[in-house]
Amino acid sequence: MPYNLPATRVLMNSLRQVMAEDGETRSRLDQVVHLIASTMVADVCSIYHREADGTLLLIATEGLKPEAVNKTRMGSSEGLVGYVARTAEPIAIEDAPRHPAFSYRPETGEDPFHAFLGVPILRTGGVIGVLVVQNRTERVYRDEEVETLQTIAMVLAEIVHRISEDQSSAQPDRRARGQNGGNLRGRIFCEGLGYGRAVLHDPVVPAARFFAADQKQEALRLEQGLKDLRASIDRMMLIDGAALGEDPRDVMEAYRLLAHDTSWAEKLQEGVRSGLSAEASVDRARREHRAKLQAARDPYLRERLHDLEDLDNRLLRVLGGEESKPQITGESSVLVARRLGPAELLEYAKLGLKGILMEEAAASSHAAIVARALSIPAIGGIEGLTTLIEQDDYVIVDAEQGQAHIRPDDAVYDAYKSRVALRSERQAVYASLRGLPAQTKDGKTVSLMLNAGLDLDLDMMDQAGADGVGLFRTEFQFLVSETLPRLEDQIALYRRVLDRAAGRPVIFRTLDLGGDKVLPILNQLREENPALGWRSIRFALDHKGLFRRQLRALVRAAGEGALTVMFPMVTTPEEFREARALLEEEVAWTLKRTGQKPSKLEIGVMLETPALAFALPDLAGEVDFLSVGTNDLLQFFFAADRMTPSVSDRYALISPSALRFLRMVAETCQTAGIRLSVCGEATATPLAAFCFAAFGYTSLSMSASSIGPVKQALRSIDLAGFRRGLDQALNEPNDAFRNQVLRIALEHGADIPDA
Ligand code: PEP
Ligand code: MG
Repeated sequence: MPYNLPATRVLMNSLRQVMAEDGETRSRLDQVVHLIASTMVADVCSIYHREADGTLLLIATEGLKPEAVNKTRMGSSEGLVGYVARTAEPIAIEDAPRHPAFSYRPETGEDPFHAFLGVPILRTGGVIGVLVVQNRTERVYRDEEVETLQTIAMVLAEIVHRISEDQSSAQPDRRARGQNGGNLRGRIFCEGLGYGRAVLHDPVVPAARFFAADQKQEALRLEQGLKDLRASIDRMMLIDGAALGEDPRDVMEAYRLLAHDTSWAEKLQEGVRSGLSAEASVDRARREHRAKLQAARDPYLRERLHDLEDLDNRLLRVLGGEESKPQITGESSVLVARRLGPAELLEYAKLGLKGILMEEAAASSHAAIVARALSIPAIGGIEGLTTLIEQDDYVIVDAEQGQAHIRPDDAVYDAYKSRVALRSERQAVYASLRGLPAQTKDGKTVSLMLNAGLDLDLDMMDQAGADGVGLFRTEFQFLVSETLPRLEDQIALYRRVLDRAAGRPVIFRTLDLGGDKVLPILNQLREENPALGWRSIRFALDHKGLFRRQLRALVRAAGEGALTVMFPMVTTPEEFREARALLEEEVAWTLKRTGQKPSKLEIGVMLETPALAFALPDLAGEVDFLSVGTNDLLQFFFAADRMTPSVSDRYALISPSALRFLRMVAETCQTAGIRLSVCGEATATPLAAFCFAAFGYTSLSMSASSIGPVKQALRSIDLAGFRRGLDQALNEPNDAFRNQVLRIALEHGADIPDA
């Protein structure tokens, strides 16, 4: 099989013609295998299609017996073809029958063929088929030949994909693809309902743009694209360089090195030389990186592959300019992304979105909180999302039940419509409560506060009728910007927050970085157990320059007004005292410099580690208030990682152990004279709110969408009666404890929709 570049180009030109023709898909495939076999001087060229059940069906061949087409089917792990599909890697073998994975199929008549070269046909992150050439003689396929076949496989992917499309439309009941007849399950990131057309976050290269009209020109375009990409990454490093201080810059540096990697660039140029457009060549690399990522288990390798895929996407954006940006039309777009940074999400959100679907659950937690800040229905942790959803597919985002319906049929759509109607009726009821206090039937008033982190959330403060901000996550400003926010930027944000609150209390939580909130430019270390690691107040106290700057910004923003600050994830009294001393030093420093100091300074501590609960008596007189961060507290209490879906929902706040613990914390604080509040997501349900209020927590902070339902519920209950019943239940809990508590609540007047 002599190989040369001109031959590849001739082949690409012929393929381009076949692609451009209208005609029956299968007859075009026959033309394609014929073309490949003759140009590559192979005795056989075959295409296998990966069916819905994972088997690989021979759908076209030149050289094997024609009767085998649509009959010969390999199991997903059978033979060399199965091997290629499973590993998503090419395989070139001199003498296939001697290979341990070889599986002989007499009906194909493949006895005389020895040399075997198979490459995966990759599309949107998955293997959709396998392209094979075989030769009678034993021979070694050269690297360039493997490359060529991979390039061809990429071009072929669109035609092969159409086979599954044709099959799906021939069977109406399979029109909606995916598990459960078109439903994909995930974790609710922001509750709500939305419907619209899918807009893929990662740039899509249309098949029509696969080929370059002028290769020389295209090679120059790619070269320029690579230069621009590298320059932009170098610039990022330069801007942040000063801020990185003494920390080694491994993470960013590794990313930069990848961008400068000559083998990556060479591979891309190779694609262009063989006739692909610059975009198609990058797309080919991206498909390979994704397929490898799907197969990789090693976390380090996965991260590198993610970085590579990020670079592919960045380069596609550089090459495509404005055109490569997803077209968001506002009234009906659902954003579909594998991974999404909070800053990117903010960009999209400006254009308007009806919903967000994400593949990665863990890496996207910041995006999830941004989604909540913007009240966009969002579901994350949907496995295989981007292989199952296509650009422009209609999608329902049911972030009330954690499901996405792809291309819903009429019945599903009608059901969705009636749920939307019901939801807006409820919203109208909540809106009517806006100006009223969250006062229980027996006259106990609880403050309902907002969890926020961006100025965008603050719009919600009035809409939801919040009494103030119970948790302002200051690290968000850091997470959504590419460089470290300067002192002035921080002061400006805190001032905006205080202005918007217009006298209502605002609790600023100091930087809570680490764990799932990683800032690449700060080079937080890779850790075995990030949730238990170098994070939060531990990280802040070890980065005093950064921490002091933030404290200074807070004091400066308050001017002569009130300032309320709390420290996250404090485990020992010493940590609290050290942080408090730094804050007091900044107050003194600011007074000296500006002549101003806060009229009232309140300092609180978050209860997120069980250990602190037993240290509270030692902090009497030093701490003004305590805020329970149930998100972290429950993960430590039950030893269940909040970022791991298989365990994160396994344990509940409404359980005898957690409630007894929270009751004990309340009693300790009442004795020590420490004010009590809660700010984790677990407060957001009416039943949990009853329990906290009953124990004496006077302020509950939650996301905007929960304030209405919680207020409505609190206004309906006789809290003292509920407390008596709850104490009794905690003495004698039964197995269905949640139902037991729910019954008590209902007996005492609770009005809870969907209870
Ligand atoms: C918590 O842990 O409950 C909390 C409010 O903090 P975060 O979710 O930001 O970790
Ligand atoms: Mg926390």
